[in-house]
Amino acid sequence: MSVLTSKDRDHQPVASDHIPWPQKSPGSCPISAVKARLRTAGLRPTRQRMALGWLLFAKGDRHVSAEMLYEEALRAREPLSLATVYNTLRQFSEAGLLRQVSVSGPKTFFDTNVSEHHHFYNEDDETVTDIPGSTILVSGLPEAPEGMEISSVEVIVRVRRADGEVIETKRVVGHHA
Ligand SMILES: [Zn+2]
Repeated sequence: MSVLTSKDRDHQPVASDHIPWPQKSPGSCPISAVKARLRTAGLRPTRQRMALGWLLFAKGDRHVSAEMLYEEALRAREPLSLATVYNTLRQFSEAGLLRQVSVSGPKTFFDTNVSEHHHFYNEDDETVTDIPGSTILVSGLPEAPEGMEISSVEVIVRVRRADGEVIETKRVVGHHA
């Protein structure tokens, strides 16, 4: 089955100590690995899901927006509508294959690394990268509301090209169970 043959276009700078795709076993075919990953998540490996799963998961950890993935699919001659890309990303997220990272306004990135970690958001080129090590200590967290618990804390450190100084706007997002 030939799904996609697009070349990786130096898209996402990935932190050197990133966590590799956990289900990848040495020597396994990436396409069957994508299929197995979909099946494990309870998703039928349709052609569209396989095509997008290949783009998302076969290249290590990535942060992509729906628009980026749509353009990659176009370049790979995979005729998918933007709506299909959105739907598939939503299904993958609900199945636990992706984690959503919201950086500003309506902009959402989908992270193939679903473990808890933190991000740099580059305001100049609108890209998201992992913060290496992700050993951020957040102090002064509020108590969760009555009957709730804090399930995770994600820090997004917004950066821009330094003209002598770097801004560090920190945004803390806690999801409550
Ligand atoms: Zn990430």
